[in-house]
Amino acid sequence: MESLKVGFRDFYCNNKTRIIIVLFLAFLSAAFDSVVGYSFSFIIDKGILGKNYRFLIIVFTVLIILAILIALSKVVRDYIYLGHCSEILKKIRSKTFEHMQNLSIGFYASTPPGELLSKFSSDLSKVEESMIYAPSYFIIPLINVLTNTILLFVMDIRLALISMLIFPACFLGPLLYGKRAEKINFKRKRAEAKTISNVQTNIASQTVLKAFSLQKLATHYFEKSNDFFFMSMHKSLFLSTFVGRFGEMWLVVLQVLIFAIGSIMTLEGYLQVGQLVAFQALFLGLSYSLTTISSFMPMVLQCKVGMERINGILSEKPVVTDSASSVELLPFAKEISFNNVTFGYTKELINLDNVSFIIPKNSSVAFVGPSGCGKSTILSLIMRFYDTDSGSVAFDGIDIKSVSQASLRKQLGIVLQENILFNVSIMDNIFAANLDASSEDIYKVARQAEIHDFIISLPEGYNTKTGERGGMLSGGQRQRIAIARALLRGGNILILDEATSALDPVSEAAINATLANIAKSGKTIISVTHRLSSAVNMDKIFVMQKGKIVEHGAHQELMQLNGFYRQMWDKQH
Ligand code: ADP
Repeated sequence: MESLKVGFRDFYCNNKTRIIIVLFLAFLSAAFDSVVGYSFSFIIDKGILGKNYRFLIIVFTVLIILAILIALSKVVRDYIYLGHCSEILKKIRSKTFEHMQNLSIGFYASTPPGELLSKFSSDLSKVEESMIYAPSYFIIPLINVLTNTILLFVMDIRLALISMLIFPACFLGPLLYGKRAEKINFKRKRAEAKTISNVQTNIASQTVLKAFSLQKLATHYFEKSNDFFFMSMHKSLFLSTFVGRFGEMWLVVLQVLIFAIGSIMTLEGYLQVGQLVAFQALFLGLSYSLTTISSFMPMVLQCKVGMERINGILSEKPVVTDSASSVELLPFAKEISFNNVTFGYTKELINLDNVSFIIPKNSSVAFVGPSGCGKSTILSLIMRFYDTDSGSVAFDGIDIKSVSQASLRKQLGIVLQENILFNVSIMDNIFAANLDASSEDIYKVARQAEIHDFIISLPEGYNTKTGERGGMLSGGQRQRIAIARALLRGGNILILDEATSALDPVSEAAINATLANIAKSGKTIISVTHRLSSAVNMDKIFVMQKGKIVEHGAHQELMQLNGFYRQMWDKQH
């Protein structure tokens, strides 16, 4: 499989012409800085000390013209380079988002949303920062280092050789402490993600927090992760800065040393005054460039950590994939079957143990049983959110592992306990289930879900916005819209996962009546519920206990069996 990871190549090798232009313009501006330093030698020795006015006028005029041209070239460079950065970041965002769409449900079940959000926001912004500053903090200073070093050797080899001590002085810090700084930075990013995750969960659970007066406890938990974030942040910021400071200290010592030796050489007649000043200017330029580069290192470190974290998502492989030979699932014709299915979310625990059953087309079935017995897991396997560990799930005798996920899910309409309605019109919310549907199709399913009359009674009818997560509608209305949406899928199979469990008894009974009508109109209904009253009218009820089907039959048969179902029924009534 092709590696999706983002690396250095993605940043700079995608559009070579653009990068060559930017590098050329960066070279011009760096070379100009060196030329200005070098010009001191002849401005002082030939112009000032030689009292040559004409020479001075020519040199300064040329320098001013060059300065203006370089300033203009910087504007052009910024325009091209910043466009390039924005485009690369856009590509990384799209690549990551697209990849996330293909990851399996298991990934989302085990990854806190805040962790993903922090990768999208804070980690990407670190990458952005270092990309944007790369020319002024790295590329130009690096060219400056090269040109100034060459000019130093041109001016005086002996002094230039001593000046070269600047390189080990500068890179000692990153060499000694770089790895440690990187490690701490990684810790800091993890702590940051945890804090964001905490805030995100807090926002989502405000109702419960307020209802149970848990604000203090929430603040306590937040403070714990915030403290950890603070400590790792302090350590990582300090160590990153220390790496730079360490080099800076040696730079200052060297600057003074070079100036002292240069002054003695001038006194002894080995150098002219102008040369000493120019040498000093070039050496200061060199140290300034090296300091700039080393101050850029913390940004590079953070960018590297950010990239690693983003690559963490990109290297995540979907657990459920279409096989190379996968085919389109033909329209559902006969039955769905579980054949000796065993499955566990983790290796340690079996959540479904050798389960077999058949759901004939146009029948209605319910899976009931205590919480945690594996009912929803059955639905997840029908939807192929996970693959079985052994045994098979088949549609009309065809193992669903051999068909494409899209063709399977196209035939399945699902209604959950909490349905996400998008903050768009009711029409678009239903339409989302089948983009090929016509308005007539939508009215039809809304009628089947017995919500059409309500919708048209609204001032804006089908164009009414449902509000954030469907907040403008009652629980029952949301469920009915979700049922209409599920009915619009292609396969006439309606999957209900505790669809009425969050409703009051009156709304529940009303929706159950609607579902009974839908069942009669030639649909296959597969329902998971812990409320037995919702399963009474089903053709067949599968009773589950600890990952196994322990009883099955119609309501009356199960009651007469006087077993586990009967016990649950008596408890609930
Ligand atoms: P039910 O729908 O009957 O309440 P589920 O099918 O949702 O039960 O869950 C069956 C068992 O699998 C439970 O013990 C539950 O904790 C566990 N489980 C459910 N989802 C996951 C998951 N994503 N990762 C690990 N364990 C899970």
